[in-house]
Amino acid sequence: MELKPGLSALVTGGASGIGKALSLALGGKGIFVTIVDFSEDKGKEVASLVEKENAKFHSNLGFPSAIFIRCDVTNTRDIAAAFEKHVATYGGLDICINCAGIGNPIPFHKDQTDGTHSWRLTIEVNLNGIIDCTRRAIGIMQSMKKPGVIINMGSSSGLYPMYADPIYSGSKGGVVLFTRSLAPYKRQGIRVNVLCPEFVQTDMGSRVDPKFVGLMGGFVPMQMVVKGAFELISDESKSGSCLWITNRRGLEYWPSPTEEAKYMVRSSSSTKRSSVIIPLNLNLQLPHSFEKIVVHTLTHDFRNATRKVQAPLRLPIKPNHVLLKIIYAGVNASDVNFSSGRYFSGNKSVSSHLPFDAGFEAVGIIAAVGDAVIDLKVGTPAAIMVFGGYAEYVMVHSKHILPVARPDPEVVAMLTSGLTASIALEKAGQMGSGQRVFVTAAAGGTGQFAVQLAKLAGNTVVATCGGDKKAQLLKDLGVDRVINYKAEDIKSVLMQEFPRGFDIIYESVGGDMFNLCLNALAVYGRLIVIGMISQYQGEKGWQPSNYAGLCEKILAKSQTVAGFFLIHYGHLWQEHLDRLINLYSTGKLKISIDPKTFLGLDSVADAVEYLHSGRSVGKVVVCVDPTFSQQMAKL
Ligand code: NAP
Repeated sequence: MELKPGLSALVTGGASGIGKALSLALGGKGIFVTIVDFSEDKGKEVASLVEKENAKFHSNLGFPSAIFIRCDVTNTRDIAAAFEKHVATYGGLDICINCAGIGNPIPFHKDQTDGTHSWRLTIEVNLNGIIDCTRRAIGIMQSMKKPGVIINMGSSSGLYPMYADPIYSGSKGGVVLFTRSLAPYKRQGIRVNVLCPEFVQTDMGSRVDPKFVGLMGGFVPMQMVVKGAFELISDESKSGSCLWITNRRGLEYWPSPTEEAKYMVRSSSSTKRSSVIIPLNLNLQLPHSFEKIVVHTLTHDFRNATRKVQAPLRLPIKPNHVLLKIIYAGVNASDVNFSSGRYFSGNKSVSSHLPFDAGFEAVGIIAAVGDAVIDLKVGTPAAIMVFGGYAEYVMVHSKHILPVARPDPEVVAMLTSGLTASIALEKAGQMGSGQRVFVTAAAGGTGQFAVQLAKLAGNTVVATCGGDKKAQLLKDLGVDRVINYKAEDIKSVLMQEFPRGFDIIYESVGGDMFNLCLNALAVYGRLIVIGMISQYQGEKGWQPSNYAGLCEKILAKSQTVAGFFLIHYGHLWQEHLDRLINLYSTGKLKISIDPKTFLGLDSVADAVEYLHSGRSVGKVVVCVDPTFSQQMAKL
């Protein structure tokens, strides 16, 4: 939702502290505000301040741009009246911020009362009050049939225990899980999110022992809380989202995707053959033959290494096998390594494999199944990550089929590129949170995933790229510091701005960039060798490199240089693909597909060369069957 003049918001607890700051900030955007609070003097004062802010946007409205309503949020009739007054004044409700809250007046261990004026009251205000206001706001937004955003004020003590005030902590923990459980309202256009700041210097925050606040990194500046609230309002993907704000670590979403994956458990067998994946009712007529790209000569020059050939479609399909009709194929930097024979091992000479099928990954529709395949149906959209993706059809063992909801380009991007980032950061990088992560070639196929996954895990991310468009993409993906090496010298920026180095480096360029990364690694740092694209297409192809002093450097700083090759992690593909699909479908992960279109198998060599030209932004994809993708688009 764009924060723009003319919207209306209701803020409980708006007379002081965070509620007051948010009311003023909303007024500063020309938004009409109802301040709901217990304290009349302070509430009226805030309303007049909000009116002053609003006066910059509106004149002669005929109604006040801010009103104060005295209300006890533990009294359901008071609440109903406040919401009714708001709707009667402003004709609807776009934003509701439930801020009213108290600290437990009597410490739990000293409380000898029946709790009515202490712990029960805290729960009444902090939890029941928020539930009641949220319920009202949802009801109004539903009846207005207009999008709305509700923000509930949690606290970091709703995320982890606060020993000094267990009742407060319990009430806020309730707010957090109550709000997170409301995520499905997004389907009705209503987004409910929770904000969890650590100590803010309000009346309540100032009562906390300053030594403890200091230990936690100091008070969270109010503008950071406002920034967080505005992010939850504006970002349409946020629903049931919990934003944790600390002065130590900034803004980060809780839980991290890694933690989320622990409870969003789906057994691999249930996802692999998920009933949610609906076979499409398409007219799939099998041809007698099909076209594919094969490597006929071993060279890193992909165009000269490959040719398009006609291959017979041998029926019936082998037992346990599946025929996939390919719609999109993914282009990878390593296509040129494969065409030069680099990925064959064993005793046989590499040339004895010729000719062999090119392409690593594709999505399409199951066109036929062999005997003994009982759990895959014709028409099911599926992905594959086996050789032979640059083809109209591919026959694979059913165990290689990864069913997906739709055969879209974004799914192709999640395969080699997305899985490499997801698995490498977790396994080779052992990524946690609160770390400094450096990503090279970050606006490319795999880099775009690495930066986002590192951000989602709560890290500071610095990323390199060559060009303004790529720099803009990385900024849009939330990278904290983008280094466009065409405009800035990477080494100088790193020395000046990141002298302590990086805990994790996701490196895929090689050569001088690898050396630079090695020097930018912090003590205990882990440098993940993803690839060395700068060396794949040299005059004589890819030559082994020597890095002088490598052992001495990593020994001196207890560092790790970890190789990563996706092929060795096949057992994790389905699990990580499910995670990526979940992040993407819940709007937490964005996927950038390069806008240049490559249609049909004749365009594959162009696409591979385009990727290596350094001009591509995001994932490069070939549409193998444009007619089919048009049919799909209509579904
Ligand atoms: P990509 O990142 O989409 O490749 C394009 C980007 O690479 C370009 O935008 C450019 O970025 C950079 N680049 C291209 N040619 C270059 C050159 N000659 N010198 C320096 N930079 C160049 O490609 P990708 O398929 O996702 O692969 C990226 C890297 O990850 C490759 O090294 C690849 O081998 C590796 N990879 C490894 C695995 C694995 O399992 N280990 C799996 C997938 C990919 P900027 O100029 O903007 O920096």
